Formats: sequence, C-alpha cells, structure tokens
Amino acid sequence: MKKSPILFLLLLMAACHPKQPTTLEEATLPEPTDSISFTPPKNIVLMIGDGMGLTQITAGLYMNGNKLNLEQFQYIGLHKSYSSNDLITDSAAGATAFASGKKTYNGAIGLDAGGKPAKTILEEAEAAGMSTGLVVTSSITHATPACFYAHERDRGLMEQIAGDLSISGVDFFVGGGKKYFDRRLDERNLIKEMEGKGFVISNFIDTDFNNVSIDFNKKFGYFTADAEPLPKSQGRDYFVQACQSALNYLSSQNDKGFFLMIEGSQIDWGGHANNSDYIISEMIEFDQAIGVVLDFAKQDGETLIIVTADHETGGYAINPGSTWDSIIPAFTTDKHTAVLIPVFAFGPGQELFGGLYENTAIFDKMNRALGFIKS
Ligand SMILES: [Zn+2]
Repeated sequence: MKKSPILFLLLLMAACHPKQPTTLEEATLPEPTDSISFTPPKNIVLMIGDGMGLTQITAGLYMNGNKLNLEQFQYIGLHKSYSSNDLITDSAAGATAFASGKKTYNGAIGLDAGGKPAKTILEEAEAAGMSTGLVVTSSITHATPACFYAHERDRGLMEQIAGDLSISGVDFFVGGGKKYFDRRLDERNLIKEMEGKGFVISNFIDTDFNNVSIDFNKKFGYFTADAEPLPKSQGRDYFVQACQSALNYLSSQNDKGFFLMIEGSQIDWGGHANNSDYIISEMIEFDQAIGVVLDFAKQDGETLIIVTADHETGGYAINPGSTWDSIIPAFTTDKHTAVLIPVFAFGPGQELFGGLYENTAIFDKMNRALGFIKS
C-alpha cells in the first residue's frame, strides 16, 4: 500500500521533534573548592532534618524567640535534591545521595540507579578504623538511617533492612523499630544475634533512655519504640540526650575518629500532616540537638558538623497575618517538594560546603574532608 504524503510528513515531524528530557543531567561537582586548604577533621557528624526546608527553619526560629543554634554556622550552601527518576525525591533516594554519592530512584536503600549496592560513607569510615553511630527519631530501619548501613531495593523491606543492620559495622544506635528485630516473619531474633556479637541492647520497655547506663567497652543499641517513636509533643524525650551519649561513646572508642549520623526524622511527618505546630516542635528539638553537637565540636576542635535536609515537605509557607508569637501556615501539598535545600557546615573542612551543588556532592565533600578523596 502506498503511504499517504500527509502521513509521511506527520511521521517525519514526530521524528524531528526535539525530545523533552526524561531525566536531568547531574551536574558534576564544579571544583572552585579545589584551591581551598583546610585541616582535615577527625570526626564528622552529619545531621539530617528530614523534610526541613527554609520555611521549617524560619518557623522554628521565630517560634523559638528569634534564635536557633543554626545561627552559629558561618558556611552555608544549597543542594539540589532531585532523584534519578523524579524531580521530587523521597527520603531513601535523598539519603542514598548523601551516604553514597549516587543519584538513585525513589525507594532505593543504598543502591545506585542500576540497582547495584553503593558503598556508604559509614562503611568507608568503618573500613578506616573509625567508630560509627546513628541516632534518629524514627525507627532505626527507616529510609534515612537505613541508607547508611543497608542495601535493599525498597525502603519497605524493614525486616531485611534490620538484617543488614545486624551484620553492619555500626557501633552505636538509638531509634525505634524493635519489632523488625525480634518479632519477624522468619522468627530469627536479631537482638539475641547482635548480643552474641558484642552488643548490649536495651529498650524503652526495660529502661528509660535517660537512665540507661552505657558500657563503653561494648557496642551499644537502644530501641525507643516497637515501630515508630512518638512525636516530641506526645512525650518523646530521648533525642537530645541520645546525641550527647553518642558523642561521649564514640569519642571514647579509639583515636581514629568517628562518623555519626543524627536525624530529626519527624519534621517531615509534621509536613505530611500539614501540621505547623508538629513541624515547629520537632524543628526546635532538632536545633537543641544541634546545640549539643556544636558544644562538643567547639571543645573538641576536630569535628566537622554538616546540617542539611533530604528535601522539603508540605510546600510550607508562613502567611500574612503571622505575628512574632504565632504563625499562620499554608501548605501546597501533603507530599515532598523540589525546592533547593540549605546546607550548614561548622568545623574543620567547613569551607567546602559553600555554593550550590548536587545532593550527591555532600558525599564527595565529606570524603574529601576526611582525606578519602585526594584532590
Ligand atoms: Zn516524607
């Protein structure tokens, strides 16, 4: 059958029409930082406020009497939070970018976009003889902490992720999720298994965290909930003390330094709930944790602190009519958004964190700071 000239023309036009990009091209790290010289830090504390965009910080600031510990940071940058398959990242792809320097698909835990396990900064630190720790206000198997020690195709695989923690090199952890360790479909008791490998593990049923005694000669774990811990406003009170305990413990372990990841997990949940008070109480508590880490770093002089978020949540805004002591909030969504995310750095190597860069560059910069990447 003879092709009609009109059909031929339409086909030709379709073939020549420029394609819209289906993925973004990841900018490679520009190297204006190459000329920066600094004394390498011995320790890194990476603090992630999940869902903490500029408005969350702003609301916390004004509802805390116009002051935050974050104001003490002199080096501030911005990162691009998108994932490999979506302009809007989730916490798994966001944390994998920080932990492994790979853009990956939403839901991936410590895998690159092709599904291959990506080595994490925590694993590198461990291989270098450093001590490692995690303190969170979610379950310890939740997406953000999981991306530092686990490699799984989906963030929902909580029991597999718990299995990954049980064989990881993490020395100290505090968070929820006990049931993924001791009431599993496969009937293994990972808590018993970990105790057999040098851990002392306690939980919220046996001892309040604030009364727990920590044996510095053993590995330490504490479960703060069976699944997800309570919001701060409903009585969760372990977070700031756990950050202090982590610093005491990790700094006592050896002279090779430590890597600690701290997450204020529930700023994000306030955003999903479109609940401004929830965001603010979580944000202020996260800032108190920042204060504890700053005090340690100022005294120690060898600790680099990085504070950032994986993404913003809620399209949160502070509306006209807000006053010094109350905020009229607005939300554009109950999901995450794509807005640029601030990065605050303090301590040796802080100069590396100015500028506007990919979220994956935070991994590169931490590696460079620790001397794992020579420039
Ligand atoms: Zn979220």
